[in-house]
Amino acid sequence: MSSEIRIKFLGTGSILAEPQRSCTSLVIETAKEKILVDAGPGTLHRLRDINIAPHNLTYIFITHFHPDHVSDLIPILFAIRNTHFEQPVPALRVWGPRGFINFLHSMEMAYGRWLHGNDESFKFYELKRRLLDFSGFRLIWGKVIHKNESVGYRFEFNRTVITISGDTGYCSELTRLCRDADLAILECSFPDELAVEGHLSPSLAAKIANDANAKKLVLTHFYPGTVDSDPISTAEKFFEGPIDLAEDLKEYVLAP
Ligand SMILES: [Zn+2]
Ligand SMILES: [Zn+2]
Repeated sequence: MSSEIRIKFLGTGSILAEPQRSCTSLVIETAKEKILVDAGPGTLHRLRDINIAPHNLTYIFITHFHPDHVSDLIPILFAIRNTHFEQPVPALRVWGPRGFINFLHSMEMAYGRWLHGNDESFKFYELKRRLLDFSGFRLIWGKVIHKNESVGYRFEFNRTVITISGDTGYCSELTRLCRDADLAILECSFPDELAVEGHLSPSLAAKIANDANAKKLVLTHFYPGTVDSDPISTAEKFFEGPIDLAEDLKEYVLAP
């Protein structure tokens, strides 16, 4: 069985729609797991583009409740509800930060009882313990600076580490999550000259990757114009390792 870990970007843009970039989402795929992190608008169709059916996902982890990160969660669950299975399939386990169960109750009020989880199709969990041991991987999450509930995720597959920032400003917690990561996937909403609080720019993302001794930095979550501003040239001044710009449907393979 292959021990490769594949990171497949589904959406790398912002809520300001661009033709080539859906909103935030990616899949981490191993021999055992298909883990979706965030589910912005366009995720359902991008999953189809890479031939992953919603019911083939094993986990979903949500970073925060802004629509560009979560609004395709309901369509993904509805797709599972409307799929006919000859054989029972394992329940999709969906995790979110503080307030996630309340968020789901609100969605259930709007969309109806079919969304009621914790049955055979999907199960919902709210993050509490900072370190979670799953079969095949370990997850550490930390609070980042964006919305009250916002978290970043550090996935550890044996010695292979992938950190995903979600939306965040510059913070030491994210540096901790990125420590020695093989892949630090950090948001880069705006160029340095247009930087806003609660989001990273190329130099801030690169400083975090440098401070954390990350092996590779991948920038994502671009607002229109950010990619054209040549964020790599800016980031290179602060981080000596390889830097890449994520694109929808681009894949990275980590071989432990
Ligand atoms: Zn956000
Ligand atoms: Zn966002």
